[in-house]
Amino acid sequence: MSFADLGLSDELLKAVEEAGYTEPTPIQAQAIPAVLMMKDLIGIAQTGTGKTASFVLPMIDVMASGRRRALMPRSLILEPTRELAAQVAENFEKYGANHDLKMALLIGGVQMGDQLKALNEGVDVLIATPGRLMDLFERGKIMLNGCELLVIDEADRMLDMGFIPDIEFICDKLPETRQTMLFSATMPPVIKKLADKFLSNPKQIEVSRAASTNENITAFKINVEQRKKRETLEWLLGNDHVETAIVFSNKKTTVRQLNKDLQRSGFKSGEIHGDIDQNTRQKELERFKTGEINILVASDVAARGLDIKGVSHVFNYDTPWHPDDYVHRIGRTGRAGAKGRAFTFVTKADAEAIENVEKLTKSEIDVFGKDDVRVELKDAPAKGDKPKRASKPRKPDDERDQQADKPKRARKPREERPREENPGEDRTREEKPRENGPQDDESLVKPRKEKPAKSEKSQPRRHHRDDDDEPTAPGEWNGPQPGFLGVGFD
Ligand code: ADP
Ligand code: MG
Repeated sequence: MSFADLGLSDELLKAVEEAGYTEPTPIQAQAIPAVLMMKDLIGIAQTGTGKTASFVLPMIDVMASGRRRALMPRSLILEPTRELAAQVAENFEKYGANHDLKMALLIGGVQMGDQLKALNEGVDVLIATPGRLMDLFERGKIMLNGCELLVIDEADRMLDMGFIPDIEFICDKLPETRQTMLFSATMPPVIKKLADKFLSNPKQIEVSRAASTNENITAFKINVEQRKKRETLEWLLGNDHVETAIVFSNKKTTVRQLNKDLQRSGFKSGEIHGDIDQNTRQKELERFKTGEINILVASDVAARGLDIKGVSHVFNYDTPWHPDDYVHRIGRTGRAGAKGRAFTFVTKADAEAIENVEKLTKSEIDVFGKDDVRVELKDAPAKGDKPKRASKPRKPDDERDQQADKPKRARKPREERPREENPGEDRTREEKPRENGPQDDESLVKPRKEKPAKSEKSQPRRHHRDDDDEPTAPGEWNGPQPGFLGVGFD
């Protein structure tokens, strides 16, 4: 299957070729012909499967004929965050290079002047976050009755961010005879209802089961005590062939602290979370994209939907509270065919959260075992032996730096553009009162001696302990073999 088989114009095929795509992804292969036939569409596919091009490409051809009119955009793409909106705009510019189409980006947090000017001159494609669009609409600065095509992108994110009422309002203002497309990684009931209400006889495309995760991602969970999380993370960063990693935490305070700690340990890390202003966030992201740093510590909202290429690892430093976040987080790796590894740290207090994740993804996540370790593990040195170099769970700095300096996968520095969004958007998730939740009861957690990892996998998990274990003193690294490999919870 090639792009040429999908019915796109020659100009577009040229632009696609220039973008370096050789083959359409499954969602693109199915969606593009349907959109070209002006059908309504529901597209469900995991994060990173190329949903953007599956609507932007055919939209360009659909919009190619027709006339612009002042204040009346001809098509509308709704995005939950300004980062995503800006990304779609970039895509639009790239694919639309050979077309005479005008696009405007309508996002919160930036001056309205240029946006209004563009609207006045007439746009073919308007890419907007719901908040700013509503704002302009209510002030009479924009009319939606000339809008014959609507895309609701990242619908499940829209739901998370509380935008569903806004979207309903906007849909009501659009002409009834229009083409509507809805894209989402998951399909919770509210989204289904929205689709039933605002789409007519849609073609539904589902690329692999909703809420399932990508097969290019090898996912593990690691039972770990709260106070050993950082040590465990640092060991993995140093020993799991990490090229680039995003480390997710549930709380902004943890993001900040962890970034500091990692830097102190010599890692090249940065942070993004909701308390950081948009400019700084963007700069941090650029540093990550250009390879100046290779570890990004992030909160969910700040990292949502970001298209960062070639992330080799995702770490869930905290098990996400909302199972959908799990899918989105680990979807930052294994993008566009590349392989990735995802690790989720699970404390005793996370038992329910991880169960919910496994319910949603309909698969039990493998426990990270000895067989999954990518470096040679040596048995703990016998008494009296001098430990070779591992009194700490990580590589010496020089070795680790080398790893960090390894050439990154192809990533061009991107053009910098201001991206802003409603700062309120960042507050959805990060303030949940989990801080005072039950602490790990360490008496229940015993490090185990090695056990063949195979048997670990075939047995029911989370209920291991060996009675002949020799406990390790708290906080002590127990030799070259990472201690967390043997930790289970009763
Ligand atoms: P989604 O919206 O499904 O999460 P995106 O549209 O952001 O995914 O695409 C993810 C990544 O895949 C982007 O970096 C994009 O440039 C890349 N991509 C999209 N389509 C193709 C393709 N046909 N071939 C190669 N890479 C692609
Ligand atoms: Mg997308």
